[in-house]
Amino acid sequence: MTRTSKPVHSPMSGFPVVDGQLQVGGLALRQLAERVGRTPFYAYDRGLLTRRVAELRAALPATVKLHYAMKANPMPALVCHMARLVDGIDVASAGELQVALDAGADPQEISFAGPGKRDAELAQAVAAGILVNVESFREVGVLAQAAARLGLPARVAVRVNPDFELKSSGMKMGGGPKQFGVDAEQVPALLAEIGRAGLAFEGFHLFAGSQNLRAEAIVEAQQKSFELALRLAGHAPAPVRFLNLGGGFGIPYFPGEQALDLAPIGDNLAHIAGAAAAQLPDARIVIELGRARVGEAGVYVCRVLDRKVSRGHTYLVTDGGLHHHLAASGNFGQVIRKNYPVAIGTRMDETGHEDCSVVGPLCTPLDLLADRMALPHAEPGDLVVVFQSGAYGITASPAQFLGHPAALETLV
Ligand SMILES: *Cc1c(COP(=O)(O)O)cnc(C)c1O
Repeated sequence: MTRTSKPVHSPMSGFPVVDGQLQVGGLALRQLAERVGRTPFYAYDRGLLTRRVAELRAALPATVKLHYAMKANPMPALVCHMARLVDGIDVASAGELQVALDAGADPQEISFAGPGKRDAELAQAVAAGILVNVESFREVGVLAQAAARLGLPARVAVRVNPDFELKSSGMKMGGGPKQFGVDAEQVPALLAEIGRAGLAFEGFHLFAGSQNLRAEAIVEAQQKSFELALRLAGHAPAPVRFLNLGGGFGIPYFPGEQALDLAPIGDNLAHIAGAAAAQLPDARIVIELGRARVGEAGVYVCRVLDRKVSRGHTYLVTDGGLHHHLAASGNFGQVIRKNYPVAIGTRMDETGHEDCSVVGPLCTPLDLLADRMALPHAEPGDLVVVFQSGAYGITASPAQFLGHPAALETLV
């Protein structure tokens, strides 16, 4: 006889439980909520951030540089913490650039990507001395003007829209027609333009996609990215010193998903680093990661305001919801809504469960944090925790929608 069991969430083992309460950064949840002053809030655990970077370093070859893609979580204190742990920061706007510079990141190791960079942003990048991942012919001209006006070099890499896709990726950002980067077949002409304009060419940036939990798909994309970069290097106006092979490492959010196996990725990157040492001897290989660095280190915490039973179904109504955490509500790029891992952080030891839904205060049925989940019986005042919330949380949510108070953030 075969038993088919319902898929479950991967265990959230980063946060210990003491006396029935979840601990974040060594603090019991109720005490942390008092310290923050009000709910809802996001809390990020410094120890887990540090541990995660160490895990990634241990799994990947020492010669591969690890960058933090800060759009995943741009909280200034967190970026400060990360800037000391990683080899570089990837920014996606002049606003993020300011935070990275204030955090003490080395401008030499900051790179700037994005499909629509304003002229003023490109000038700021030149003034800051950071690397710009060029994504159009227009940017070359604007950078050349800024460099001439400021009397500074314009450091550039070419962001390539590859001629392949990252398979089984949550979000595809390369292959086919895309607004990101320059199509691989147009890159030789762009490289010639960069040479004519006298920009300081440093290398290539390839980013095929995001939130991938299949190591073999990532290995294939990195391998193809490396081969493409080798072909394009023949057209470059200067030796390749920087080769960003992207990232796309996913984390398990939904029932049935499992942590990405880093071992085959590490093996393949070691292979690539070896080939690069021979064929692109000046190049440092870079991997850029956002959520895989910070996603698991963060929780979103909100308070149960009310408990309602509607025709037999229990609703826990909280003070938090999609206006703070769009992704957990299922409205940030998911095709089919699934539950994030959710717990009652003040009743972690209780064994009895009830089937209930956790909703927010907004007047829309989309404001859903957990849909028909088995949770311990909770009452007003209890604290609901949404795990895997360290990335694409507060800054990826429509905070103004309905005019409720903003969520707070703390690094513990
Ligand atoms: C968003 C983005 C990342 C980070 O993606 P994660 O899934 O958070 O790792 C990295 N690089 C580029 C170019 C991006 O746009």
